[in-house]
Amino acid sequence: MINLEIAAAFSEIADLLEFKGENPFKIRAYRRAAQLMEAMTTDVASLVETGEVSQLEGIGSALAAKITEYVHTGKIQALDELRQEIPSSLMELTRVPGIGPRLAARLFRELGIRDLAGLEEALAQQRLRGLKGIGPKTEASIALGLKEMAGYRDRRPLHEALSLANELLRGLRSLPEVSRAEIAGSIRRRRETVGDVDIVVATEDPGSVRQYLTRLTMVERVLAGGDTKVSVMLHGGLQVDVRLVTPTAFISALHHFTGSQAHNVALRSLALEKGLSISEYGILCQETRERLEPASEEEFYAMLGLTYIPPELREDTGEIQAASKGRLPRLVSRGDIMGDLHVHSDWSDGVATLEEIARSAAQRGLRYVAICDHSQSLGIAGGLTPEQLDARDAEIARINDRGIGARLLPGVEVDILSDGSLDLPDEVLRKRTVVIASLHSGLRQERAQLMQRLKAAMEHPYVHIIGHPTGRLLGRRGPSDIDVDELIRIAAATGTALEINASPDRLDLSAEQARQAAAAGAFLAINTDAHDVSELDYLDYGLGVARRGWLEPDSVLNTRALDDLLEQLAQKGDGQRG
Ligand SMILES: [Zn+2]
Ligand SMILES: [Zn+2]
Repeated sequence: MINLEIAAAFSEIADLLEFKGENPFKIRAYRRAAQLMEAMTTDVASLVETGEVSQLEGIGSALAAKITEYVHTGKIQALDELRQEIPSSLMELTRVPGIGPRLAARLFRELGIRDLAGLEEALAQQRLRGLKGIGPKTEASIALGLKEMAGYRDRRPLHEALSLANELLRGLRSLPEVSRAEIAGSIRRRRETVGDVDIVVATEDPGSVRQYLTRLTMVERVLAGGDTKVSVMLHGGLQVDVRLVTPTAFISALHHFTGSQAHNVALRSLALEKGLSISEYGILCQETRERLEPASEEEFYAMLGLTYIPPELREDTGEIQAASKGRLPRLVSRGDIMGDLHVHSDWSDGVATLEEIARSAAQRGLRYVAICDHSQSLGIAGGLTPEQLDARDAEIARINDRGIGARLLPGVEVDILSDGSLDLPDEVLRKRTVVIASLHSGLRQERAQLMQRLKAAMEHPYVHIIGHPTGRLLGRRGPSDIDVDELIRIAAATGTALEINASPDRLDLSAEQARQAAAAGAFLAINTDAHDVSELDYLDYGLGVARRGWLEPDSVLNTRALDDLLEQLAQKGDGQRG
């Protein structure tokens, strides 16, 4: 919708003006106009046609002219000029958690910092704390935010790399010369971000495979092409390394190139103790010089006296010790997942109708779906009032009665307001089977205030799940300043589940945090937060996080059969009321 595009343009103008140190009233006018555009339910283009746009409250003639300009031309000249004036590297500073436009401007003017590299240098020299109002603590938290962002440089989100890798894989597997092909590397381990793509191919005819690869239209240029390895750069800048091995060496190569390096190193020293040496070519018995060629990864690990270690666990964080004692977790898998507890319908900012959701979920083998539309204060996302929720739930009941698809559970994603109260009254929440409480505003508040809001939500008797707990957007926005240890402690104590939001640009909680939460006795919920039925497939990304986090089905709320789930959800309210 054009309203949201204009809202984004206005808040960018406000940021740029703030950076320039312009009149605060002017800046505030843009911010307020952005909020108004976000909250408005009528298409502003139609108001431009009728001329009503200048009658909107808070929209003066200058703003009305810019809205009209955008509706007619798709751009705002004033914004383009500001962008020219202020280099984007400077505005990049504002992507670091803890740095707003005003601080970015001060960093530029007072310390001469013009980009992220400059910021990194200034932090290393502890120069930020020289600024008025900035102490060592703020400096440290900015340094942490920058470090997290740096993790994304030259890497891209898993889902982008995975879809390209799958396309390549399908092509390779269709070749008669290829007997086996698998994705290896960090994609196979389901890391959140991926540096490059590794694929292992078994073939007796590397020349043909090389030729095939170098002629693909998705390939921009060939970096290296030999008989054992072909490296290509795809359009868009993703590098793919394809290893070409003989069929008998396939498993050892697949294992080797799956990594992680830390896992492989630890495994090699374990093997040496047993008189074996491991390489990408196979396992060699040091005494007899005999080469062992495992036919599967199960066999590979068995040769080392270990049970099979799933790729997601291969990070040298205790998996080898656990495998040697036969104590690896029984990781949660797709077949364990009975439902999705966080889906938006077209009643709020989702696209799909309730009926479409029920049918699509059933096609994916899900038994139930909680419809958790936004609550009223979230105007940007068509948040629902109590009356609208009642009307929606009446339709949910009709669809359930007709037995269409998966069972729909009436739910809500209620906003945790700035003061820690919830956006809907208790009697409205009580009527919903699934209540997710989420932070959507005030994400840059101080730790104490954020924690006070989350604590109040978790202690609320009708809140079942905390949605996307840290608020991060991969590569775009760092996590809020949340005390994760404390979050987990309260979640476990109150019986509130923490979400693993499976949306590929969130993955929130992270795998490490999920592992910590489960170890502390908290429950997790792997939710897609789908806004359209195709996004129900995000479940696989959430599962990747859960498996990297060593989660067993028991820790995951949505592995329960419907009756057990309802019982566990109801317990929260009962327990806290009594
Ligand atoms: Zn949300
Ligand atoms: Zn949501």
